[in-house]
Amino acid sequence: MSNTRTAGDITGLSAADLARKIAARELSSVEVTQAHLDRIAEIDGELGAFLHVGADESLAAATAADAAIAAGEAPSALTGVPIALKDVFTTVDAPTTCGSKILEGWMSPYDATVTARLRAAGIPILGKTNMDEFAMGSSTENSAYQVTRNPWDVTRIPGGSGGGSAAALASYQAPLAIGTDTGGSIRQPASVTATVGVKPTYGTVSRYGLVACASSLDQGGPCGRTVLDTALLHEVIAGHDARDSTSINQAIPDVVGAARTGANGDLSGVRIGVVKQLQGEGYQPGVLASFQAACRQLTDLGATIVEVDCPHFSYALGAYYLILPSEVSSNLARFDAMRYGLRVGDDGTHSADEVMALTREAGFGPEVKRRIMIGTYALSSGAYDAFYGQAQKVRTLIARDFAKAYADVDVLISPTTPTTPFKLGEKVDDPLSMYLFDLCTLPVNLAGTAAMSVPSGLSSDDGLPVGLQLMAPAFGDDRLYRIGAAYEAARGPIG
Ligand code: GLN
Repeated sequence: MSNTRTAGDITGLSAADLARKIAARELSSVEVTQAHLDRIAEIDGELGAFLHVGADESLAAATAADAAIAAGEAPSALTGVPIALKDVFTTVDAPTTCGSKILEGWMSPYDATVTARLRAAGIPILGKTNMDEFAMGSSTENSAYQVTRNPWDVTRIPGGSGGGSAAALASYQAPLAIGTDTGGSIRQPASVTATVGVKPTYGTVSRYGLVACASSLDQGGPCGRTVLDTALLHEVIAGHDARDSTSINQAIPDVVGAARTGANGDLSGVRIGVVKQLQGEGYQPGVLASFQAACRQLTDLGATIVEVDCPHFSYALGAYYLILPSEVSSNLARFDAMRYGLRVGDDGTHSADEVMALTREAGFGPEVKRRIMIGTYALSSGAYDAFYGQAQKVRTLIARDFAKAYADVDVLISPTTPTTPFKLGEKVDDPLSMYLFDLCTLPVNLAGTAAMSVPSGLSSDDGLPVGLQLMAPAFGDDRLYRIGAAYEAARGPIG
């Protein structure tokens, strides 16, 4: 019998509560970290959320956090609260695989900026979480290492590509987690596990040491079980970084303040747009019912809801699946058998080109190969204008749809996913239907703006989690937290 949703006394607390108790020395970080390590040892065999657990390293960080608190020198509001880190951020003290065999055994010589910020904030890293290979996928089934199961129903997917982080949160193996969102990989796993996930404005969370999938779309972001917890983590990881050339040197909005204000529940004067193109045909009735109930609750809180037309969103999927593979084909060229991880055929009988080909053949999985091939074609001289060039034009039109909408409303909303989580194995042989699962999340990445998925309850038709997506303009991340927290308080507990 699965107990993946039954929390313990410590593991059941929110990150905000844990932080408060650790700061007040009612609990030590060592105790809290140990409780989560015990929980991982107890249940992760069944769920498969972690690829690597750093027991000694996280306990050493917890000991240091306790010492800092005892000395009155807590470095952050989350000092001592442990976290799960998606295995796409480099770490000097744990392997970084990106869910790929091509990086098996590789140790990074440096920490990602996100990793370094967590360490500097006194946040012990429990381990590295499972993901679709190089963040390509919607179910975490493209991991070369293991399947991750959804704690709500272990026969179902935990979402992807960050299914490991979402499953760890939903099963109380970690109070906080880090994900990355290139087309929905934070929001969509959050939606199907009834957790909160935020894709921050592009350029506000450093990509230094985040192994690239598609550089113009990738963004690291915070994951939690509550809106406030997610805001506290957002504050730790966001901020300018000179080592990332796309990092924007501008103040991060006060997301923690916004989450606290929002919890008071008054949304009068707030204008919310429902995206016409992100509902209707193909959406599960229980998902739409949950979405409509959320709209009513937002209206009850004082918000005004209007329908908004974003005509070019219909082309988002097509544009995304040309732009992303194009960037992937170029980014993944660095795995050349010389510099990182796996090397096949290096026996003196093969040329360097052959070793490279053999290594890439053995080291990459089918979805990664599919995208490298599509991207290489889309960028080839005869096809460039018709494919990559057209997709870039669509990208501009989508950004304009958003800009026009935000001239009239503060945020846009939609369901996060068209259906609740599907069965493991159900879509592995049908890439297109797998791609369609991210229909609602992709436009935000193309525009470089911000979005959150907040749980909107369990679907009336199958009892599985549903997510509400809130979208905001660039540097409007605080709006997500204010409205998300107000909605969360009105909605009440789930399950
Ligand atoms: N599922 C989408 C894809 O496969 C999004 C992935 C992501 O956000 N990393 O590309």
